[in-house]
Amino acid sequence: MRQNFKVKSGNLFIGNIDTMDLVDRFDTPLYVTDERIIRDKIEKFKRSFPSADIFYATKANWNISILKIMAQENLGADVFSDGELYIALLAGINREKILFNGNSKTPEELSMAIKAGVKISLDSEDELFTLSEIITDDDKVEVFFRVNPGISVNTHPKIATGLKKSKFGIPTEKIIDAYKKTLEFDNIIPVGIHSHIGSQILDISPYKETMERIMDIVGKLEKIGIDIRFIDIGGGLGIPYNTEDEKKASNPEDLSSLITPIFEDRCKEIGIKPRLILEPGRYLVGDSTILLTRVNAVKDAYKKFIAVDAGFNVLIRPAMYDAYHEMAVANNMDGKVKDKYTIVGPICESGDILGEDRWLPIVKKGDVIVIFDVGAYGFSMSSQYNGRRRPAEVLVNEDKIDLIRSRETYSDIYGNMVIPPRLL
Ligand SMILES: *Cc1c(COP(=O)(O)O)cnc(C)c1O
Repeated sequence: MRQNFKVKSGNLFIGNIDTMDLVDRFDTPLYVTDERIIRDKIEKFKRSFPSADIFYATKANWNISILKIMAQENLGADVFSDGELYIALLAGINREKILFNGNSKTPEELSMAIKAGVKISLDSEDELFTLSEIITDDDKVEVFFRVNPGISVNTHPKIATGLKKSKFGIPTEKIIDAYKKTLEFDNIIPVGIHSHIGSQILDISPYKETMERIMDIVGKLEKIGIDIRFIDIGGGLGIPYNTEDEKKASNPEDLSSLITPIFEDRCKEIGIKPRLILEPGRYLVGDSTILLTRVNAVKDAYKKFIAVDAGFNVLIRPAMYDAYHEMAVANNMDGKVKDKYTIVGPICESGDILGEDRWLPIVKKGDVIVIFDVGAYGFSMSSQYNGRRRPAEVLVNEDKIDLIRSRETYSDIYGNMVIPPRLL
């Protein structure tokens, strides 16, 4: 939210940089990230979980410069595809701390994971069998199983992932059998257990039950001789997108006091010393980034519409999850709130709405609207729909400004298209 950022003579600043200078230099739409916010969030997480491993959930924001920051901070990574694995390795994330997740991995992805020497979280028995078919005698791979703990969380249904009916993981009652099947294979070693109950979780109480259920399973696995060295409770810690969220939001400290005692007590009881793994994505990067978008037109129609140059091609969260993002006028931060506007994008769809009925100062053509908290699932979910080039990304740290992704060109849009000779 906006309290992370300063205002000077009416303009929004990020780090020590005037956002108006950034739009002059890089144009709009523009994603801008404050590196210091990310490093602060990492620090908070590490302090709350001093003896756990943090595997950053790459999908939240997989710009390689962001992953470089994670690598510098000695974080691991949760990757969900061959492309995410590729970039995580390129960024220098320690392969010992990479977990290849996913509910539908191809044999090629599994083989890439084996070759890279990363750990794999298996989502089904079929995946175990595929792995056994492609692994050679010289290879060895460490695996987790993802368990579906059947836990409901209070978040948007599209991002609840631990419900009984969810597509992710193996149901609790079948998980022991899945582990037993690994015993047939000498070079597939079960070393961990994985779960992830959802995203944007503000009420963290479901983590307690999740931890308890996982520890029950770990106890049973020890009895059949499966030694669990990694217990991965996933990500999902939410961030406040508005003042309502702010009252409910929890921090890593709260999460730690809720689950660490259960983890430690139960490990002692069972007689094991595994590492705890957490996979925060949104918490680490969500509030670090703003989206700057130019007003092309203001129209007094059925409602007062502000038409900006970023739509759901650039930020899909409002359209996809009914997500709320705080907005302001970046070149008029001190202006008195005067009117109610609906902020819409340039996409040829009536669902292309970024914010509805927002109170703002009088907005004019040429103004720059800032959308806050877009660091997670912002650029990473963008598309080229409507033939639109994806925007640039800039990284700011105090006085430093660096372009970390160029705005796409027309060749990025048509470059992979092929015209068959008969159409030439
Ligand atoms: C998406 C995801 C995360 C991160 O979720 P956040 O809500 O961004 O913290 C962690 N682990 C897995 C397996 C995921 O799919």
